[in-house]
Amino acid sequence: MAGDAREALRWLTDCGVDETIDETPRNRFTAPTAPEQSETRSPESPPMPPDRRSDGGAANPVSLASTALLIAQAKACAGAASSVEELANAVASFEGCALRKTAKNTVFADGNPAADLMLVGEAPGAEEDRRGLPFVGAAGHLLDRMLAAIDRDRTSTYISNLLFWRPPGNRNPTLEEIALCRPFVERHIALVAPRVLVCVGGVSAKTLLDRSEGITRLRGRWYEVRPEGADRPITTTAIYHPAYLLRQPAQKRHAWHDLRAIRAKLEIS
Ligand code: URA
Repeated sequence: MAGDAREALRWLTDCGVDETIDETPRNRFTAPTAPEQSETRSPESPPMPPDRRSDGGAANPVSLASTALLIAQAKACAGAASSVEELANAVASFEGCALRKTAKNTVFADGNPAADLMLVGEAPGAEEDRRGLPFVGAAGHLLDRMLAAIDRDRTSTYISNLLFWRPPGNRNPTLEEIALCRPFVERHIALVAPRVLVCVGGVSAKTLLDRSEGITRLRGRWYEVRPEGADRPITTTAIYHPAYLLRQPAQKRHAWHDLRAIRAKLEIS
């Protein structure tokens, strides 16, 4: 029996079910068979938006329209924030991203918002979700060591992510989730206005640089990005994600090269 329970638990975690959401377990086998929502909806009600897919529900006009509305709402909320603190509050109260329902905490940022160096990673993992801070798990520890190699720490660097909530089971963010958080991320960069912005990992690089190439091509070069509301272009580069470097330590030499280029750029700019 204990073996069966262990197997069942392993199967759940393999499927990405690695967090509890309710305080008490619910026996879904005894739940009513008809979906609760459809019982309370009148026949005239418009159809419920279908599940959001990783392609942003492109094939479904209802899903596309509801996503477009939520993005417009995110833009309005982000645009109304005139300080990093106001933006943090706007993100914390934004209900439009379904990830917040499964996340324990909103993970907004860590470090010094007045720093000249800003890093934007991908999304919080389990430890970040538990503590409400970005890059505090294994990848975060390596990131701290990478920063230390160029004489930086979290008092002289500002760190955030593309997503403010953990995707369940650490799955990849969907395009829709990225699009919903993006207005806040752009506003965040515009408000901090760092001298150098670093995209940490391929998802961050592709998104913020608006490019389709992978991180191997994007890293090690310099770009100018102009987030919505910024009064000047921001000097930007991309580095390998520390989680990738933990799996591929041979790539650390490229990361070291990129970090030195970042330090040099900060010294001259
Ligand atoms: N990976 C990220 O991209 N961000 C975090 O905060 C943690 C891990």
